[in-house]
Amino acid sequence: MVQCFSMLLVREKFSKRLRNYDFLALRGIFVPLIKSYSMLNLVLFGPPGAGKGTQSAFLVDRYHLVHLSTGDLFRYNIKNETALGVLAKSYMDKGQLVPDSVTISMLEDAVNKNPEAKGFIFDGFPRTNAQAAALDVFLQGQNTGITSMVALEVPEAELRSRLASRAKTSGRPDDANPAVIQNRIDVYNNETAPVKEFYETQGKYHGVNGVGSIEDITERLVAIIDAL
Ligand code: AMP
Repeated sequence: MVQCFSMLLVREKFSKRLRNYDFLALRGIFVPLIKSYSMLNLVLFGPPGAGKGTQSAFLVDRYHLVHLSTGDLFRYNIKNETALGVLAKSYMDKGQLVPDSVTISMLEDAVNKNPEAKGFIFDGFPRTNAQAAALDVFLQGQNTGITSMVALEVPEAELRSRLASRAKTSGRPDDANPAVIQNRIDVYNNETAPVKEFYETQGKYHGVNGVGSIEDITERLVAIIDAL
């Protein structure tokens, strides 16, 4: 009788441990999955001078996201005279795009360095359809994806005048040279603008009027993001 009772106790203890173990194992699988699927990942899109950097600063604060700007990452590498910086500079100084393979792996590294992120604002990336496709594959591998592309729509004349005044304070050589500015706008129209279609076909494109006060434009973006 006593033997029987102690056997029952052992069995009960064992199955409790198993239940706890199951719960922990499931939690280990589901919590990261739920977290990944509930991430807010935004592509902030627009031509050079559209105000992506300025608006990112507000959105990062409001939605607690990590801001990843490929332009900033390249400038950081240029400042620190890394091999990547030397390579990137040779393209940036001419207003050309840095090759996809280099840009994509730099971006993926930056995402991997932020495993606790609740989401990302991708600023200045993707700039080609190949980058957009690579980003989709990479995020799928992390059980997440792009929530939406929000685009700042600004006419070309306005961009030129904004870049000319930004050149006085930005210290960016690519803002100071009209020929380089023209090249950046041409590259945008030819290689980057088609990325809009990539997200449109997925039903993820949202454009806002990017002309007006900084606060008004932030409000337009927030209205879209809150409704996602
Ligand atoms: P931005 O700060 O976004 O205006 O970028 C400055 C420059 O960095 C661009 O003109 C490109 O030469 C380079 N760059 C930034 N992002 C990318 C990207 N996603 N793909 C290729 N080149 C990029």
